[in-house]
Amino acid sequence: VMANTAPIFGENGQCLGVVSVLRDITEMKQLEQSKSRFVNMVAHELKAPLAAIHSYLKMILDNTLGDDIVTYNTYMKRSLERTEALTELINDLMNIFRMDSKAVKRNLEKVEVADLLENTVDLFKPQMEEREISVNLALKHELFVKADPEEIRRVFTNLISNAIKYNKYEGSIHISCVEDGRWVKVTVKDTGIGMTADEKDRLFQEFFRAKNKFTRDITGTGLGLAILKKIVDEYAGRITVETEYGKGSTFTVYLPRVMSGE
Ligand code: ADP
Repeated sequence: VMANTAPIFGENGQCLGVVSVLRDITEMKQLEQSKSRFVNMVAHELKAPLAAIHSYLKMILDNTLGDDIVTYNTYMKRSLERTEALTELINDLMNIFRMDSKAVKRNLEKVEVADLLENTVDLFKPQMEEREISVNLALKHELFVKADPEEIRRVFTNLISNAIKYNKYEGSIHISCVEDGRWVKVTVKDTGIGMTADEKDRLFQEFFRAKNKFTRDITGTGLGLAILKKIVDEYAGRITVETEYGKGSTFTVYLPRVMSGE
């Protein structure tokens, strides 16, 4: 608690009392701490790919490789992959900051949820084919939410991209969209690696990524679901997760429905 105290004097200079302003700064302190923790984590995440690129370039330029064109190519390829990871990280960071900023401009529209889902799934067709993942849609049309379509697309993109990334080879994805009272309920279900209870609890934390034998070779920033949660909260929606380790996960997003006449 922070206290500012000032005496009050009467006409003859006698002290009548004191005024104290007490302010609870615990919350301010906590906010500051979590901000500096975040900046620290960002710095850490930026440093790793940069250090890798640095060492690859150094090995190439130091001429230690001689005529070994295969290793030379491998190092160039890895450097390129790391620059792509950096770009992804920076894009996610900009989306996090965008969601945290009070001044953000939103283009609110009546969004037809099933159309947006179909359209987003189409963009992922090549990735699904690559891993022979099948997708099954059960979408009720003419359900609307009032939102910035780009933000809702980001929610769907994230769920679908995770359902592919954390799926098994030849796995499947089931996507449904139904009306549930005053909500539009969107479910994305995968037959992937699932999560432990402990991993599930930390899922929406910034930079959290499960570390186990399945996730070793999967790349990502650990920011996608944190962004998704901020978007869903922005529209007073909610998200639930059911998951079983080694079996698969189901993410369900509830968004407030607007009637077709509104
Ligand atoms: P990223 O995919 O970039 O790591 P996300 O924030 O989208 O970041 O997800 C955080 C973590 O949650 C992932 O690293 C993964 O461990 C876990 N996860 C997310 N979606 C799924 C899913 N569908 N199945 C299993 N694990 C998942």
